[in-house]
Amino acid sequence: MTEINQMNCNATNNNDCSSTNNQIHHKDTILNSFNPYSSRVIDLGNGQLIGGGYFQTIAGPCSVEGEHIFELASFLKSCGVSILRGGAFKPRTCPDSFQGLGKRGLELLSKAGHENSMLTISEIMSEGDIELYHDIDILQVGARNCQNYSLLKALGKTDKPVLLKRGMATTIDELLSCARYITQSGNERVILCERGIRTFERKTRNTFDISAIAALHEECDFPIVADPSHATGLADLVAPCTLSAIACGADGVQIEVHENPQAALSDKEQALTPEQFKNLMCDVQTMHNFLTK
Ligand code: PEP
Ligand code: MN
Repeated sequence: MTEINQMNCNATNNNDCSSTNNQIHHKDTILNSFNPYSSRVIDLGNGQLIGGGYFQTIAGPCSVEGEHIFELASFLKSCGVSILRGGAFKPRTCPDSFQGLGKRGLELLSKAGHENSMLTISEIMSEGDIELYHDIDILQVGARNCQNYSLLKALGKTDKPVLLKRGMATTIDELLSCARYITQSGNERVILCERGIRTFERKTRNTFDISAIAALHEECDFPIVADPSHATGLADLVAPCTLSAIACGADGVQIEVHENPQAALSDKEQALTPEQFKNLMCDVQTMHNFLTK
């Protein structure tokens, strides 16, 4: 994977897609018919903000698989990503599937983040694990734990931002109630994430509920992140769904990237290659430029 840091953007526009600062501020949009962005600005640490027009791209592998995370982190940083994702305790449907590297995965993620001046985010599945996440900057609650109220209350007592993913059968109102479990326990730094819901459609892994992004903005002031990777489950659909989420008012996106998707230990069908990701980041910049006065 040594060549990925040198890769150039091949988009047919003049954007500087290799910016090392992806903190895009796009509050002043050209849109007249709706107010697309959250009013709550969340300080994620390290000078990184989300919401209120501050946009973030979160990217990384589904699972931290080992030392690969270092080169991947450095590549993502070169694309302008400031928040590195990677699962260590994985909620796998099948107990025989790779379950993540656990504590070692968190250590590798944190080290890769520090080395590249990136914030880190990883899914936490149990309140008993909070101590293990000491060096992780943002705690992710996965779809399967969206309504795990004891976990939500415990995370409400931490001093870390929480990215709360919508459950695959959770309504918008239920998601908002879940967020209140965190805020009522004292933690106001909540980010919501639309990652697709389960419907009758089987062509995609889930159904990307893009309307939820706009609907949530009407109902609350939390920043909303879209996760087109889990919403679609298919790498080819990640780019169009990312761009549509931005047009719909997403304050950020979370995208799975792997240096060799076919060899990924989890979610290989939806992972973007480094080249695909780099091209998408160019398109994300183009979309921001288009939407901004
Ligand atoms: C993940 O982000 O790796 C994940 C498991 O996502 P979700 O909880 O949305 O399925
Ligand atoms: Mn995944």
